[in-house]
Amino acid sequence: MKKATKVLALVLSMAMTMAALTACGNDTAAADSTDVTAVEDTQTDAAADSEAADAQTDAAADSEAADAQTDAAADSEAADTQTDAAADTGAVATVQDGVLTFGTNPEFPPFEFVAANGVIDQYDGIDMAIAKQIAEENGMTAAIESMEFDSLLIALQNGQIDAVIAGMTVTDERKEAVDFSVPYYTATQVMIVKEDSDIAKAADMADKKICVVQGYTGETCVSDMGYDYEAFKKGTEAILELVNGKCDVVVIDSATAQKYVDDNEGLKIVEDPDAFESEEYAIAVQKGNTQLLDMINSAIEAKLADGTISALSAQYLDADSEE
Ligand code: GLN
Repeated sequence: MKKATKVLALVLSMAMTMAALTACGNDTAAADSTDVTAVEDTQTDAAADSEAADAQTDAAADSEAADAQTDAAADSEAADTQTDAAADTGAVATVQDGVLTFGTNPEFPPFEFVAANGVIDQYDGIDMAIAKQIAEENGMTAAIESMEFDSLLIALQNGQIDAVIAGMTVTDERKEAVDFSVPYYTATQVMIVKEDSDIAKAADMADKKICVVQGYTGETCVSDMGYDYEAFKKGTEAILELVNGKCDVVVIDSATAQKYVDDNEGLKIVEDPDAFESEEYAIAVQKGNTQLLDMINSAIEAKLADGTISALSAQYLDADSEE
């Protein structure tokens, strides 16, 4: 069992690395650059519908192919327990009865960050509010397990958590390891620079010192462009480097970039929709966990349709992120 878990962890970390190498402008991202400008507005109904349909098709295809539940997963006691519980009660089976445990990395404002008064314990942000609502509307309580971004999919596959909500971009490579919900947010990579920077487009980064966050899709984009870069563990560390003049540009997700620029003097955002395609955030569940995925998809679809997610986005983008 220990050995199987180790093998699984290795396979998953390879999948995460592959995702990091190939996710930029992945084909699961929302169609065209018009979406890029609509980041803060959330998707139009039409876009949401068609993306939802695509994602569902993908999810269905994935779950059929999900014999990739690998031997290790089949061995997993957590997986067995979940299946038994589901058969017994008809309720969605979770790691802990009555609790929907989400993994996240609370270093990604406005989606997840630590605050004095969070929505789930000390955890606050758009994702945390969505997680809490999904759980409570289904008669459960939401719990958060905080961990490194790179550990999230491994913890999910090991049965340590029920789902991942972490501003996580859907990529083909990650879809090989887990199933994704319908997307709930469209973002893009942007460049954060000093206000007096002469960087006006992605190509201007060629002779500059670039900072990214390890394992984020921003790292993938810069790597795909063939530029050298330095990767930091946290967004705040990369920003500090920029503020201190030790790097020239940080490439990171748009809404998070906006928070950093709001919270730090002397920085601005430079967009280049030709270089950075749109990305979609979704919730991940274990491969083949259709019961939980259906529940999450219904909740997200309802929240996109009634404007809840749009309102949360506006609320958290305007608010100060106390970290
Ligand atoms: N959207 C980016 C990714 O999926 C960053 C997510 C995050 O850091 N929470 O890689």
